[in-house]
Amino acid sequence: MDKNKIQVIVVGGGLAGLISSICLQKAGVNTLLFEKKEYPFHRVCGEYISKEVKPFLERMDLFPDHLKPSELTRFQLSDIKGSMAEVDLPLGGFGISRFQLDDFLYQKALNAGVKVKTKTEVSDIVFQDNEFKINLKTGETLTSEFVINAYGKRSKLDKTFDRPFIQKKSPFLGVKYHAKVNFPKDLIGLYNFKGGYCGVSHIEDDKVNICYLARRENLKEYRGIAEMEEAILHQNPLLKNIFESSEMLFDKPEVINEISFERKASVENHMLMAGDTAGLITPLCGNGMAMAIHSGYLASSSIIKLFEGELKNRNEVETEYQNIWQKNFSKRLWVGRKTQNLFGNQMRAGLSVKFLRNFPSIAKSLIQQTHGEVF
Ligand SMILES: Cc1cc2nc3c(=O)[nH]c(=O)nc-3n(C[C@H](O)[C@H](O)[C@H](O)COP(=O)(O)OP(=O)(O)OC[C@H]3O[C@@H](n4cnc5c(N)ncnc54)[C@H](O)[C@@H]3O)c2cc1C
Repeated sequence: MDKNKIQVIVVGGGLAGLISSICLQKAGVNTLLFEKKEYPFHRVCGEYISKEVKPFLERMDLFPDHLKPSELTRFQLSDIKGSMAEVDLPLGGFGISRFQLDDFLYQKALNAGVKVKTKTEVSDIVFQDNEFKINLKTGETLTSEFVINAYGKRSKLDKTFDRPFIQKKSPFLGVKYHAKVNFPKDLIGLYNFKGGYCGVSHIEDDKVNICYLARRENLKEYRGIAEMEEAILHQNPLLKNIFESSEMLFDKPEVINEISFERKASVENHMLMAGDTAGLITPLCGNGMAMAIHSGYLASSSIIKLFEGELKNRNEVETEYQNIWQKNFSKRLWVGRKTQNLFGNQMRAGLSVKFLRNFPSIAKSLIQQTHGEVF
């Protein structure tokens, strides 16, 4: 193996990209990661991570214990009018901001020997003569044997690759705040409002994450986010109370548009797709971060198997990854898409609350179906 040659280029330094590049480099595979932003930075995310990934992170010395993530063990659901029910979470999770977590993993990637180029955007990738040509926005071109695309839920690259999901307009937007507010430390709240739902839970340093998914058509009726929140989210008395008693810690909220939950391919033109690039699970499942970590690990493992001689060629790497991705994630994504329909509508949300209250063990097993096995 030529140690100086770039063997894998990873595009995107969120959880999927950082984890895959750390795993590859630790296994002796020469890896270069491109991230278009500069760490640390905020992202729209509920920042609740399912515990299924904790043993893996601990094994790899990647669990940020020193940042003191919150421990989340209870789940509360409300309908639009504020009627609620509660269950203990089957597995539970922890809360930590992406501002801290991604920066911590970035430092870990550097320590592992990953070459990381921040503030560098990849503009195109072409597969030719059994290798990849990666074009940067700066005009530079690099080559590598493998590419892992972990550039998130939506990127200009999706248009460049002409991926089918990008043709469809998505009605959803996401909004996030960090706040100081009196809220139970061990609770994750999911509160419905007309056309959407809002998650509330603790992260590190006594801060609370308030993050919601709304329909863009809601926003169009009002002059901005604040007016929409007052008119629509505050109709739920629980949300009204949380918003009104919160001291918001950002000057303005983090906002993203065009969030698509459509199906995507896990391998495209020989590139392995990881995290949201392979499929975004609906946020109500609270599982996208765990899936990004897990799929980053699986994508890197498939490539490592080739370098270690367990797989014979590129074709076997692609088939291995496609199969293992399907086995681990496709059912969860499907359940997520189906349950999303229960939210944002008073009648359906009201029925969900009654269901949670009257059949807590069945509800727990449904929650489990959107989560994976501990690994
Ligand atoms: C409203 C909302 C709430 C959510 N809440 C939760 C939650 O509570 N718990 C949970 O587990 N999941 C949640 N999720 C899902 C979770 O945020 C994602 O699944 C997770 O962030 C995916 O990680 P990733 O590494 O795939 O992508 P990302 O974290 O999005 O990282 C992709 C990176 O690629 C970079 N990039 C993009 N294009 C390029 C390019 N061309 N060149 C170089 N770099 C590029 C971007 O700058 C970015 O840093 C939520 C999602 C939404 C929308």
